[in-house]
Amino acid sequence: MSDEYAAYSCPECQAGVMRLDYLTYFTWLDHELITVPNFPAWVCDVCGRREYDQRAIAWLAAMLNPETGRPSSAPRRVRRPRPAQTDDLRPSSRE
Ligand SMILES: [Zn+2]
Repeated sequence: MSDEYAAYSCPECQAGVMRLDYLTYFTWLDHELITVPNFPAWVCDVCGRREYDQRAIAWLAAMLNPETGRPSSAPRRVRRPRPAQTDDLRPSSRE
C-alpha cells in the first residue's frame, strides 16, 4: 500500500480518516474576503473535520503577500526626504 496521498486518521474523532478533498477556501485579507476555489484540504470522512493543506496555506500566504519575491532581509523603513523647511527656523542673518 503506497498511496501518493497517504490518508491518516482524524485527530478529532480518531475514528475517521482524513482524505484529500478540494474545497473553497475563505480567508480575509485586510477587509476583503478572498475565496480560493479548489483548495486542497483534508476532510475527515466521519466527523467532517477540515484541515487545509499546510503547504497550500503557505503558498497562498505567499501569493497574497505583496512582499513576495523581494529579498527578505531585515525590514527596512523607507524614509521620505523631508522638504527643506529649516530656513524658517533659522534666525535670519539678513535684514
Ligand atoms: Zn473525524
